[in-house]
Amino acid sequence: MTHTDIAGLIARFPLLEPLIALTPVTWFNPGATSLAEGLPHVGLTRHDVAAASARLACFAPYLCEAFPETRASHGIIESGIATIPTLQGTLNGRYGVELTGRLLLKQDSHLPISGSIKARGGIHEVLAHAEHLAIQAGLLRETDDYRTLFSDEFRHFFSQYSIAVGSTGNLGLSIGIMSARLGFRVTVHMSADAREWKKKKLRQHGAIVVEYAEDYGVAVEQGRKETERDPACFFIDDEHSRTLFLGYAVAGERVKKQFDEMGIRVDADHPLFVYLPCGVGGGPGGVAFGLKLAFGDNVHCFFAEPTHSPCMLLGVYTGLHDAIAVQDLGIDNLTAADGLAVGRASGFVGRAMERLLAGFYTLRDQEMYDLLGLLARDEEIRLEPSALAGMAGPWRVAANLEWQSGQGLDAAKMAGATHLVWATGGGMVPAEEMEKYLACARI
Ligand SMILES: *Cc1c(COP(=O)(O)O)cnc(C)c1O
Repeated sequence: MTHTDIAGLIARFPLLEPLIALTPVTWFNPGATSLAEGLPHVGLTRHDVAAASARLACFAPYLCEAFPETRASHGIIESGIATIPTLQGTLNGRYGVELTGRLLLKQDSHLPISGSIKARGGIHEVLAHAEHLAIQAGLLRETDDYRTLFSDEFRHFFSQYSIAVGSTGNLGLSIGIMSARLGFRVTVHMSADAREWKKKKLRQHGAIVVEYAEDYGVAVEQGRKETERDPACFFIDDEHSRTLFLGYAVAGERVKKQFDEMGIRVDADHPLFVYLPCGVGGGPGGVAFGLKLAFGDNVHCFFAEPTHSPCMLLGVYTGLHDAIAVQDLGIDNLTAADGLAVGRASGFVGRAMERLLAGFYTLRDQEMYDLLGLLARDEEIRLEPSALAGMAGPWRVAANLEWQSGQGLDAAKMAGATHLVWATGGGMVPAEEMEKYLACARI
């Protein structure tokens, strides 16, 4: 983009000024519409999510064998939902607004296998690819017991194929661990933000790690290029993959079931608000899609991004989607929230979901660190910085009475609301790394 383009853009889109100044912003999406109106634009259906869910059920017996830590949940990779009442009180004071509804934490940070939200989409895509290869080769039928995949015969079969991915860390961890366990050769192209311990862990699992001095966009591009040279290599494309997106979307029906078991109602008088940290968009986009299918117009989804990497807000707000990167505006994409360090959002996700998202906001790195420290202090739950981006959201909503009344959400409905903060990662952070994160909190 040229300087004149940028100047014109800022004139047309006033929110770009604080965005460029790295001031935290909250943007309630004027383009948000009903599920009925928004759904046709997604290009995916309820049926597609059901197929992903069925695939994960087929693989559950395999996962029990390959990852004994999934046995407790019968091979289903799912996380718990925690109440965090002490922190709710603390944050009411910190933000000077009272959150009247119920505050819950969705602990994808503690998902088995890879300890982040990427254990949903990333693992689903690797499993789908393995299934496709095995069926095509006549080695597997959909009616088989998939435990058969946990064998030397299949590991040998998969070793003829390779998988590659570009990642800021957690996607690489999920894809790398899952692919290596199946027997694939797997290469993870890691951006400069990726933590050293994640690279080490991947190498221990037998993955090849290629390191870049540049950001996520460059790591993905290089990975894609290298893969093009090798027909036996499958590139997992975080920006465009429907399979990845659908793996995340299964979360919707799972949350609905968990709420039913917990006795939590979601209806017109008891709205649900969900706050999702956003990087390239596949994870939060897929989860939000699944939640909309499960709860319809009674769920309001918000995406949270660092002030230094507001790529999805920028893409949706300007309507330019992946035709603009934060760097075009001079925003540096440097953040301690490594899972969110993405300069250019997925155009697929932005276009698919722009009518189904209630809003977007940004927050400072220091805010994420402070929230990390407060959550550890008040609730003894430890997360990585990215995973705290959603925690500020309930108070952004609580503070905006104008938006609430525009949605027909009066005080009684807000008091009956549930606010679900999606904690996206941190369960596998080594203790000494966690100490460093905790030391950054100013509380
Ligand atoms: C990847 C990631 C996200 C965001 O997911 P995207 O698909 O990149 O938008 C959020 N939090 C953590 C911890 C992550 O690893």
